[in-house]
Amino acid sequence: MPPKHYVIGLDIGTTSAKAILFTKNGVVLAENEGTYPVYHPHPSWVEQDPYEIEEAAIAAISGAVQKGGINRNEILCVGISSAMHSLICVNDQHEPLSPSITWADGRSVDQAKSAKATFGESLYLKTGTPIHPMSPLSKLIWMKETNYRPYLNAAKFISIKEFLLVRWFNQSIVDYAIASASGLFNIHTFEWDEEALSVAGITKEQLSEPVPSTSICQGLTGQLADKLHLPADIPFVIGSSDGPLANLGIGAIAPGDVAITVGTSGAIRQMVSKPRTDKLQEVFCYAVTQDLWIMGGPTNNGGIVYQWLKEVLGEMEVQQALEQNSDPYDLLTALASQVNAGSNGLLFLPFLNGERAPYWDANARGSYIGLTLSHKKQHMIRAGLEGVIFSLYSIGETLERFAGKPASIFASGGFARSPLWLQILTDIFGQPVHVPVSHQSSAWGAAWFGLYALGEVRSLTDIKDSIPMKETYVPNQNNHLVYQELYKTYRELYYALKPHFKALATFQKNEQN
Ligand code: ADP
Repeated sequence: MPPKHYVIGLDIGTTSAKAILFTKNGVVLAENEGTYPVYHPHPSWVEQDPYEIEEAAIAAISGAVQKGGINRNEILCVGISSAMHSLICVNDQHEPLSPSITWADGRSVDQAKSAKATFGESLYLKTGTPIHPMSPLSKLIWMKETNYRPYLNAAKFISIKEFLLVRWFNQSIVDYAIASASGLFNIHTFEWDEEALSVAGITKEQLSEPVPSTSICQGLTGQLADKLHLPADIPFVIGSSDGPLANLGIGAIAPGDVAITVGTSGAIRQMVSKPRTDKLQEVFCYAVTQDLWIMGGPTNNGGIVYQWLKEVLGEMEVQQALEQNSDPYDLLTALASQVNAGSNGLLFLPFLNGERAPYWDANARGSYIGLTLSHKKQHMIRAGLEGVIFSLYSIGETLERFAGKPASIFASGGFARSPLWLQILTDIFGQPVHVPVSHQSSAWGAAWFGLYALGEVRSLTDIKDSIPMKETYVPNQNNHLVYQELYKTYRELYYALKPHFKALATFQKNEQN
């Protein structure tokens, strides 16, 4: 047997599965991505096909192994990360009766609203999951109330990670963090919560067994192992969800370490050593291990805002990028960098997709405020990038109530490909921001859990010495002052516009019907 030098982190994201082949000290040897579509059979429904995700995950892993050009027997294990809040109804053979309904699905807005008004506080204090359409709890209430056929016929309710584990290893288990994010799991007792189950109309036998992140699955069939380009006996370590793993993979584990991730969505998160919730229900608190919880707030409007800007304002750059074989985002970022911090007094509220933290308001809408004849496309793009960060800053203010002022800030996710966006982050927060070489922090966190489960490393915190860092951004004080001034206005705008957002959301809903 050759010595084993490598480890794979598999990250099942919102739009793609990424497999990263790392050396044991965090250097990326190869990475590969398999994408999958998102379906919208009704305006607010957001679904995916579990089998398409499985195929993408297999392709991602096999591609990474082949690109790495190594002997498959040199790989120690695969650690798994996945996006939270997905829900699939399956029969007793674990075959899907429904699509995978994702975190972005908004079908249960009304159910979430009424659940929040009735037992929201009691459930939130126990589960740490704000009552919102993102969570499986709200989706299950919607299924129950609408007699959704897959729900009525389901033997079990599982997430996309559980689907892969049951397909590949015939094991019905779920890690604490994915379980936490369902809204059905008690973060104090590490058990499914009876009150939440009864609200959802299901039993705990219909859910998987919650297990620690170090749990190991083994025994791929020969055929699957061949497809994956892995040995059949390779251990798969269950890992956690993408949020805590991004914190781990970036080294934001100690008190005061804050991780900011901007992928399609975004989040600001901090690890804490005790579960903490309060009646305001503004941030989440999910169990990670028996002595670590993760607190933070998600935004619906991360990189997706830039995607939207690219689509509506960047037609020319998209075309140019095609001709030059370059990246349209880089061309748009170059344009935005021609403009000063603060975009000449143009503010953008990024709530294109409703908003989760800190407002938890599905009716919130995006807006440009302060437009004048002097504003050009570059101002609109820069204001868009700034708006995403202002939103994260406002969530950070809420998080401070529980965890104090950030001591160190770490950034990861697709947005970290843009030095300008990282500088905007640094200048708005007014603190240095550390950026790792690989922006695939969740995958490295998952891989590290794998190494930890196998006894290859001594502790989770030891990862700090194995994160190749790229650079530290330093705040520009002048820009920080500009942003502080504009933020005073930004912070008021949501509240000032809230009734108008509601009226417009109602109008839009009626138009769609
Ligand atoms: P996911 O959450 O699906 O895993 P990623 O972490 O890959 O997504 O992030 C995707 C987002 O990253 C895109 O929506 C886009 O906003 C942003 N992005 C991708 N490339 C660039 C770039 N070159 N410059 C700035 N932002 C980028």
